[in-house]
Amino acid sequence: MAIVVQKYGGSSVSTVEKIKNIAKTVIDRKKSGNSMVVVVSAMGDTTDELIDLANQVTDNPDKRELDALLSTGEMRSAALLAMAIKASGEDAISYTAYQIGIKTSGQYGKSLIEDINKDRLKKSIDDGKIIIVAGFQGINEEGNITTLGRGGSDTTAVAIAAKLDGVCEIYTDVDGIYSVDPREYKKARKLDEIDYEEMLELSSLGAQVMHPRSIELGQKYNIPIYVGLSNSKIKGTIIKGESNMNMENKPVTGVATSDDDVAVTIKNINGEINLISNLFESIASKKINIDMISQTAPIDDKINISFTIPKLELDECLNILKDHCNVKTQVDVDEDITKFSIVGIGMKTTSGVAAKMFKLFRENNIQVKMITTSEIRVTCAIKHEDKLRTVKIVAKEFNL
Ligand code: ASP
Ligand code: MG
Repeated sequence: MAIVVQKYGGSSVSTVEKIKNIAKTVIDRKKSGNSMVVVVSAMGDTTDELIDLANQVTDNPDKRELDALLSTGEMRSAALLAMAIKASGEDAISYTAYQIGIKTSGQYGKSLIEDINKDRLKKSIDDGKIIIVAGFQGINEEGNITTLGRGGSDTTAVAIAAKLDGVCEIYTDVDGIYSVDPREYKKARKLDEIDYEEMLELSSLGAQVMHPRSIELGQKYNIPIYVGLSNSKIKGTIIKGESNMNMENKPVTGVATSDDDVAVTIKNINGEINLISNLFESIASKKINIDMISQTAPIDDKINISFTIPKLELDECLNILKDHCNVKTQVDVDEDITKFSIVGIGMKTTSGVAAKMFKLFRENNIQVKMITTSEIRVTCAIKHEDKLRTVKIVAKEFNL
């Protein structure tokens, strides 16, 4: 009997009616010969509401207690779904992270799953029970409740599928993964399949369909992840390894954009590596996340150095720069930045992809302010106003 691990997101369990429907779907799937483990998110906007409550109590909620609070949302939906299944005559049992030993490490609010104790899960499966697990939560080394970061129920599901050697299906409010955000490009195609690495790049670049850690775990344990709508004939997308993909031989699989960054340029500083290293070290010591970096060639030993950081971290960054240069005269901040990226594992083996994109930019008069690349990605900082135009032109050229 195959073990099927399904995850239902907040919008899929937002009402009692929907929970009852999921109960039916899960029971049918079990009856067709599978063992079922179902991971649930909190109902609808519950997590936001809980955060809001905490913020009404204090401006700075204690992190341990905040995780204890947030974890309750998932426990409610798990218990309700188990009740609904039992009321329909099938045996079911709900579990919290503590009850099935979901061990985490790291900080509150963004903990990482390290291991799961499969004994109790196995026993319930052997007893023929449908298992419902509260997603998004874990227990740390000190025995305290933790959460995995927003959207973390995806990761609970993939981790359980990995542990039980099961099939993993993620049901959300989108019908799959698109080559381009359909809100930015109406003709965007839904992908039948996408490689883990591509999906990871796209999620870190702004495509927020899946919790990034879930993709990492899927890749590590080679668990294909289906993403789609529940109770629907519409086919979703499978995230899996490159080796078992039907390669279409396309260099570019998808496009992602993000408006969350600003570019900071420090002008006319000494290009000595010691100074530059000190500068970046002090920025890093405040956990400010630098993404793109570019530097001009030295003139009389002086250089300009530019980098992008999240908008929210700008003030803190400027504060740090005071120790390294004259912020008034030497620092420029450019808030008019959209990060535009193309992603595709086909780039590993196809040359000239960047060249083709720059040619398009030249022909269409799209100004590039900064560039970074990885083996499977090219990212350019462009102006906000050029975003939609660029998406369209590039998507068309690369047939996305
Ligand atoms: N309920 C949590 C959130 O809203 C976790 C999840 O839905 O995956 O982020
Ligand atoms: Mg999600």
